[in-house]
Amino acid sequence: MSAAPLSSVVIVGGGTAGWMTAAALARHLSGTSVRIRLIESSAIGTIGVGEATIPTIRHFYRSLGLSDAEVIRDTAATVKLGIGFVDWREKGHDFIHPFAGYGQDFRNGFDGDDIGFHHVLNRLRAEGTPHDLERYSLCVQLARAGKFAFAPDPAPFNGAFYDWALHLDAGLFADLLRRHAEGAGVERIDAKVEQVVLHPETGFIDHLALDTGESVPGELFIDCSGFSALLIEKALGVGYESYADRLFCDRALAVQSESRTIDTPYTKVTARDAGWTWRIPLQHRTGNGFVYSSRHTDDETALRDLKAGIPDPLLFEPRPLRFTPGRRHRAWVKNCVAIGLSSGFLEPLESTSIALIQTGIEKLKQLFPDHGFNPILAEEYNDMSQREFERVRDFLVLHYRSTRRTDTAFWRDCQAVALPDTLRHKIELYKARGHFVRYRWEMFHPQSWLAIYDGFGIVPEGVDPAAQALSRTDIDGALSQMRDYIDRTVARAPRHADFIAWCLLQGKAA
Ligand SMILES: Cc1cc2nc3c(=O)[nH]c(=O)nc-3n(C[C@H](O)[C@H](O)[C@H](O)COP(=O)(O)OP(=O)(O)OC[C@H]3O[C@@H](n4cnc5c(N)ncnc54)[C@H](O)[C@@H]3O)c2cc1C
Repeated sequence: MSAAPLSSVVIVGGGTAGWMTAAALARHLSGTSVRIRLIESSAIGTIGVGEATIPTIRHFYRSLGLSDAEVIRDTAATVKLGIGFVDWREKGHDFIHPFAGYGQDFRNGFDGDDIGFHHVLNRLRAEGTPHDLERYSLCVQLARAGKFAFAPDPAPFNGAFYDWALHLDAGLFADLLRRHAEGAGVERIDAKVEQVVLHPETGFIDHLALDTGESVPGELFIDCSGFSALLIEKALGVGYESYADRLFCDRALAVQSESRTIDTPYTKVTARDAGWTWRIPLQHRTGNGFVYSSRHTDDETALRDLKAGIPDPLLFEPRPLRFTPGRRHRAWVKNCVAIGLSSGFLEPLESTSIALIQTGIEKLKQLFPDHGFNPILAEEYNDMSQREFERVRDFLVLHYRSTRRTDTAFWRDCQAVALPDTLRHKIELYKARGHFVRYRWEMFHPQSWLAIYDGFGIVPEGVDPAAQALSRTDIDGALSQMRDYIDRTVARAPRHADFIAWCLLQGKAA
């Protein structure tokens, strides 16, 4: 039997998580009488990083009615076609993880089954004629050329299709979402939450005491308070599962620099002695950061290394950040749901944090409770969240564990990390037979796994017999056509900077 519908949602926090949640719930609950309030403290501020996204972000803002051009204009954004990994496999080597597939699957005979493109390249490799996987991705070739155009639709083959994401100014993005949410009726309160008061019998959150003296009651409370995890941890004490035994990076330095050069439509992440640095080009500045392991370097050395790697003048002194990679044991407890950094944080290498905010919001919309707060809803939410975090953790561990670098203790220790069983199973099947394992709640599809396997030089040992049976002449002909198509398309595509200029004109009209 269903209980009465909720009439009040209180969100604590006005960072990316808070305003994304507010805007999405305002839209989802429009037409109901649910009152949505968001409390944020301008005195505390937001974390101020989180500027590289994955393509799902575009689905998110489009579901709010915002166009790509509007978002690119209002958040000083640039296009992100993927992530360029420099010096990760070994020094001097680089590869791109694109938001795209590669080549085209082959077919054995008229009614035959598809044979994965990677099986065909693997056969050629075994025959002593290796082909570069990236050569069969239009997305990678555009990224390397500093160009961008919308993907052909329909695309003539898989590797000619791609998705894209944005690099955006996190502060401007939160402002845009705030305008949108407030326009949809969300009430904003600028105050500091001083106390989270629990109901003495149920242990549910009853109300929040603010530094203004105001008391804010509510029914559903959403904790978007960032690393302080004010509600879910400080008040409800759910506990935290650390992944620090497998993911060593636990510190970051973030800084913006003057460069406005936007000729790399991808995030660049460069492996360093005890971690990695990022470079994110925006229209009005460049974001830089160093993510490192405090067990393998000290803060002063990290600061020196970061500064030494930035060619343009800094806009301020780098800001230090600390985190423990991991997740809350439960993201939904009683009448509190944690979304964003309050629910956990792995690390920013694959830009998964904003995407996890988005999936958190989607799950909440699907399982939105009523006054009964049926515990099965929270159980399902928590089960899905745990799986999602673990799948992302596995994907990240793959990057560190697969390095061949032995030049520093950090990289040697990364190679000695114990693999989670779920990841071991995946890698073993890929190595044995080029087979992709896909678990529930995977954020990254097999093409992304292929990009990382290949980027780190992990190749299948066994050759697919169906790929073996294909005619070599047919294979060579098809590969040559794909390469020609990609080359012609890249040659015609506009420069990324010209695409952004065009978007700004469109955005003005929007
Ligand atoms: C080094 C680093 C790099 C990152 N890079 C990326 C990336 O490239 N891509 C990506 O997807 N993610 C990235 N992330 C994660 C990303 O920054 C966050 O997921 C995102 O910004 C959401 O943060 P948040 O809203 O949960 O927290 P915050 O931005 O910290 O917001 C917390 C809010 O809570 C409010 N608050 C806190 N305490 C109180 C209180 N007592 N009373 C009232 N209000 C309060 C604050 O004022 C603020 O508004 C990165 C994180 C780090 C640490």
